Amino acid sequence: MAAQPDPVPAATRSPRIAIVDDDAFQREVMRQLLFNLGHDAVEDWPSGPIALERLAQLDSTQMLLIIDLEMPGMDGVELMRGLARRRYAGALALVSVAGGRVLESAVRLAREHGIHVVGHARKPASLALLRGLVDAWRASAAAAPRRPRRSYGVAELRRALAQDELTLAYQPQVALADGRLTAVEALVRWQHPFDGLVGPADFVEDLEAHGLIDELTDRVLALALAQAARWRAEAGLAPRVAVNVSMASLDRLDFPDRLLAALAAHRLAPATLLLEVTESRLMSHRSTSMDILTRLRLHHVELAIDDFGTGHSSLAQLRDLPFDELKIDRSFVHGAPLSTTQRAIIAASIEMAHLLGMRTVAEGVEDEADWQAVRAAGCDVAQGYFIARPMSGDALPAWCAERERALRSAAQIVIDFDDLAGSSGSVPQGIPIH
Ligand code: C2E
Ligand code: MG
Ligand code: MG
Repeated sequence: MAAQPDPVPAATRSPRIAIVDDDAFQREVMRQLLFNLGHDAVEDWPSGPIALERLAQLDSTQMLLIIDLEMPGMDGVELMRGLARRRYAGALALVSVAGGRVLESAVRLAREHGIHVVGHARKPASLALLRGLVDAWRASAAAAPRRPRRSYGVAELRRALAQDELTLAYQPQVALADGRLTAVEALVRWQHPFDGLVGPADFVEDLEAHGLIDELTDRVLALALAQAARWRAEAGLAPRVAVNVSMASLDRLDFPDRLLAALAAHRLAPATLLLEVTESRLMSHRSTSMDILTRLRLHHVELAIDDFGTGHSSLAQLRDLPFDELKIDRSFVHGAPLSTTQRAIIAASIEMAHLLGMRTVAEGVEDEADWQAVRAAGCDVAQGYFIARPMSGDALPAWCAERERALRSAAQIVIDFDDLAGSSGSVPQGIPIH
């Protein structure tokens, strides 16, 4: 029988995993370990230039590239630059003998280049470390592909505002000490007639650019206050409600009076409302927004500095405004257990906030390890997928009832256990019920 022609020319067939390392022994060890993990389609390349040359002949979209940072000639950082220039679309994992902050910075740099990084590991790579990287790669390949931000025109945005296409989702915040609900954050969504439910990342910037951010703020506040009044009347719930405001939208000096009147009309105490402030690039009237926020604070509306530690949320803002709460950005929180840098930033932020008499909220608590890390750091409140995803206003009372029930039964277990041990019962500290 004649040999079947190879359906894919050898030059374009993709290895699923490739290792770039100048050390032949390391390459062989990693190859063996990957083979033990069930990966035999592995190539190994001894230098960055060779890797770039080979990648140019491959379809690399489905690939995992494991690169060593310390290589003579072209080092790992230069190789990443080359990958970015050639629009490498596969996944990347970094390994290094350096470890620590150098490795963490290299990961951030790769992400800054737009490269999808699945993880990093300190050398020598072990079976467990490689398994972690490969599992993270598989999980990310199974997740929905990332897509570029949508963009909307002014007519469509005006229609959304005029025709009540905006809705709010509410995400619970709970005390790290006892797991109880402290507040909910209102997050805007656009029920778009063709695109379905659109998140704020896809349209808030467009609203700002078209001068429509004031209308959004007004609309969101009206919806949030009406919801707070409904929760109180129908479910006896009175969580603090946090609403996001961009400082760019605070340019009307009568804003505090209108807001306080709206609170009074709903018979809500001003302290029910908390404004999460983010400083915008487009802000032009800094003194006006400071005037507005200081007056609101005088009248007991609470203020939080949102996304603390990122580009526009800085120490200067902390100095200039009477914040009650500091929200540590999720880029510092998620993954903190694996990063000494993130943990140091969290610890310093919490200490500073407490010195200023402020509460701290950790955003982006995605798993139990994040929860334990921020709790150990002395943070007051947690918010994130580990506790709950944002939900409709109607769903909140049932979520609260279920959580209370779970907290009570967890406390009961501790009481029973303590009875056996002959001591008095207590609520377990920070049970991560979600
Ligand atoms: P933000 O104020 O920092 O809100 C938290 C964002 O993190 C929300 O995204 C929330 O869904 C998401 N999130 C919550 N827990 C987790 C977690 O564990 N992991 C991860 N990865 N993400 C988590 P969302 O709803 O897409 O909102 C994005 C941003 O849009 C908000 O960031 C806020 O800056 C802005 N935004 C939302 N609603 C409004 C609004 O009414 N007005 C204005 N001006 N901006 C808004
Ligand atoms: Mg916020
Ligand atoms: Mg935030």
